[in-house]
Amino acid sequence: MPGIRKTEKEKLKKALLEQRVELVEELRRHGEVEEPGGTSDLKDSEERASSVTDLWVESRIVADDRNLLEKIDLALEKIEDGSYGICTNCKEVIPVARLLAKPSASLCVSCQELKDTGKL
Ligand SMILES: [Zn+2]
Repeated sequence: MPGIRKTEKEKLKKALLEQRVELVEELRRHGEVEEPGGTSDLKDSEERASSVTDLWVESRIVADDRNLLEKIDLALEKIEDGSYGICTNCKEVIPVARLLAKPSASLCVSCQELKDTGKL
């Protein structure tokens, strides 16, 4: 694997797996709150009834989490097939420092900037 040492690869894989566990837990928690006829406590139902915005925010959080979960799964697949750490846009090697800061990153810094500004 170009640019990534085996020890770093193991570290990144561990970080991804840990992040994945947290996300699944988070999604499970949100899922329970939204379950119809579920066992959510009074505070939850009051909050739910009080504001449509809260519900919207809640569903946005869940959507973001699901998105990140997909990215993490993709990154884990890439670690297995050896394509991890390569920018999916320009095929350049993503610096290990960036991957360590954001293990689910699939774009290099310049491509991410293009994407963030809507140019990609
Ligand atoms: Zn790139």
